[in-house]
Amino acid sequence: MTLLSNIAAREADLIRLTQDLIRIPTLNPPGLRYLDICEYLGTRLEKTGFKVELVRAKGALADSEKYPRWNLVARHKGQRPGECVHFNSHHDVVEVGHGWSTHPFGGELKDGKIYGRGACDMKGGLATSVIAAEAFIAANPDYAGAIEISATADEESGGYGGVAYLAEQGYFNPDRVQHVIIPEPLNKDRICLGHRGVWWAEIETNGRIAHGSMPFLGDCAVRHMGAVLEEMEATLFPLLASKRTEMPVVPDGARQSTLNINSIHGGEPVQDADYTGLPSACVPDRCKIVIDRRFLMEEDIVEVKSEVAAMLESVKAARPSFEYEIRDLFEVQPTMTEEDAPVVKTVQAAIEKVLNTQAEFVVSPGTYDQKHIDRIGKLKNCIAYGPGILDLAHQPDEWVGVQDMIDSAGVMALTLEELLS
Ligand SMILES: [Zn+2]
Repeated sequence: MTLLSNIAAREADLIRLTQDLIRIPTLNPPGLRYLDICEYLGTRLEKTGFKVELVRAKGALADSEKYPRWNLVARHKGQRPGECVHFNSHHDVVEVGHGWSTHPFGGELKDGKIYGRGACDMKGGLATSVIAAEAFIAANPDYAGAIEISATADEESGGYGGVAYLAEQGYFNPDRVQHVIIPEPLNKDRICLGHRGVWWAEIETNGRIAHGSMPFLGDCAVRHMGAVLEEMEATLFPLLASKRTEMPVVPDGARQSTLNINSIHGGEPVQDADYTGLPSACVPDRCKIVIDRRFLMEEDIVEVKSEVAAMLESVKAARPSFEYEIRDLFEVQPTMTEEDAPVVKTVQAAIEKVLNTQAEFVVSPGTYDQKHIDRIGKLKNCIAYGPGILDLAHQPDEWVGVQDMIDSAGVMALTLEELLS
């Protein structure tokens, strides 16, 4: 039996595995059932001969006794020395939201699609990598090197209790792992080389509180922020739109610098829903926005920050009482694996073989766990490749196609055959 027919014969198992994973509602936040999903996978992989470790990210961001951040790392060793191929999937899923016509944790199979929160992002990809590894091992019992499968926490909230923690513990050191594939839903014929950079910051304008009937006695922080937003429209957004990148970012709208105003708050705090009274009359003395700036390989983060500083300074020059503060919240450098890296070339050839089509190279608009593997693990030979349609992630009625998973499992198994024979 060839490797691809071996995979096709495991279709029922693949469906069941995907459904079982969806039926464990690993919602993040707050981080539910992480231990359950790691134990479920651990039991399965031990049966196939993997050595399984459950690792709690003790003390990491969001880890607590109530919501411990559990991760699974499973390693299968071949008969001879060789390289290690690691498949990393996150096991957490985002909130359900409204608008579902199927049960979000039911794992319903209908017309070749499996439905549920996390079906495409990314329990389908996780199940696919398990089936690919098991089929490869069954067909090549004397292979060289090692295969690792990890299921990690908190990708949806930054990955600090997941891949970042494991990378700090040495799990992604290049002397232990040589090739990393992250089966995020990027479509079965695309190879994702990396992602843009991100900088989050909070900008606060300050004023002076006074009675709302005599606003001239105070200084309105919301009006100051209005001036900031105006300046942003007039100068910053056009500047960002003019910066195009050579990175193959999809969708096309993200092939430039972007900025999102994530939130705005000014004046009195929002009251709880059970408060039935009116607001009091005050001039707001504080207004805050959070900005989410995505930047390109061609940009330097110092330059990215100084553009915003320059914009604020030009507002200040025009408004005598204008005072502001700016605070960094979070930043990640852009990353992009070389197109001729071994894992890229191998997966590219496997896509051509299985799907009979040219693989497309893409870059993700947002970051994912590759950032930690690159920055903390210092491992550059890393891509995202997996089944599922990117646009369905985080949507109601999220689904993953069974045939897409079978095809992707074929690509992954051929990749193992090429790298570990
Ligand atoms: Zn994901």
